[in-house]
Amino acid sequence: MTQRPRPLVAGNWKMNGLRDSLGEVSSICAAVARDGAGTAEIVICPPATLLMAAAAISEGSPVALGGQDCHNEPSGPYTGDISAEMLRDAGAAYVIVGHSERRSGYNEGNASVHEKAAAAFRAGLTAIVCVGETKAEREAGDALTVVGSQLAGSIPKISSAESIVIAYEPVWAIGSGLTPAPQDIADMHGFIRGRANQHLPGQGAQLRILYGGSVKPTNAAQLLGIKDVDGALVGGASLSSAEFMAIARIYR
Ligand code: PEP
Repeated sequence: MTQRPRPLVAGNWKMNGLRDSLGEVSSICAAVARDGAGTAEIVICPPATLLMAAAAISEGSPVALGGQDCHNEPSGPYTGDISAEMLRDAGAAYVIVGHSERRSGYNEGNASVHEKAAAAFRAGLTAIVCVGETKAEREAGDALTVVGSQLAGSIPKISSAESIVIAYEPVWAIGSGLTPAPQDIADMHGFIRGRANQHLPGQGAQLRILYGGSVKPTNAAQLLGIKDVDGALVGGASLSSAEFMAIARIYR
């Protein structure tokens, strides 16, 4: 039997958090030190302004940090941008790329997400590549087609199952309190694993495929128990260490 990949629970703080919020990082590290994280790997993606301070807090802890986006170039005249190398230098081991808020708010297409994922690989970061359909696309019966083309366009050939994580995040489920039917999640995750086997031949079983979109302590056991779900990308509920750890502890 093929061994399952280690689950991953990642928190995306988005544009939330001042230095006061670093207490949440301390609480997560303390909870992991005290109780263990179960079998899941824990990643916190705070805003870039907090990365170095969060890294000082999490030093020596199994809790890892991630950025929320990166530029594809290592350095240069890109005012306001942050490179994958800079994130790594600040203490990140992961970076989220292609989040739907960037795809829609900043017009990031698959080609751009592909370049960012390749930049993450170059810098030694694991890219968490987000894919997902809109409500209209799901209602039109196009969810698999849309996600299939996002995968084909966004995953660099150089990737391996260890250097990349896919997060399936239906756009309409993010921050809405809505979640797809469990069978729809299972179908999509099975589809993504099949496609991953084509992009990364023979490695599909080892690829971590996260579900993201309104994961809360109240629904986490059901969502994380779905076939082919290897963890969660958590937005709103990751701002509270108690809620975030309640989700991660499903993997005890
Ligand atoms: C996200 O933005 O990646 C996300 C999953 O948000 P939420 O959990 O708040 O739906």
